[in-house]
Amino acid sequence: MQALTCPDCNSHIEVSWGRYFQSSFKGIYECPFCRIKSKIRIKPKIFQFCSWGIQLVVVSVIPVAFLTSAWFSGGALLAFSGVLLLDKFIDSKYGVLVEAT
Ligand SMILES: [Zn+2]
Repeated sequence: MQALTCPDCNSHIEVSWGRYFQSSFKGIYECPFCRIKSKIRIKPKIFQFCSWGIQLVVVSVIPVAFLTSAWFSGGALLAFSGVLLLDKFIDSKYGVLVEAT
């Protein structure tokens, strides 16, 4: 299981779905142990761009999909779950927490 490391207390923070959804768009993770909020940085940088790209695609494609056809929105939902899994994986595998200033 991949986990992030709190820069303050060095605790391992598991990237759960709840934590992922709360933090993903702001890029802030709160340590469940010391309550310190940290920013997530993805290394190498290319994965950071992938992550941003994924989120951009998600927010722009989903509304369009629902306005078009049921078939397309079904496919979009499937793709949506796929990219979320990928993005969460990138967060937990390549994410490094740094102290928020
Ligand atoms: Zn901590």
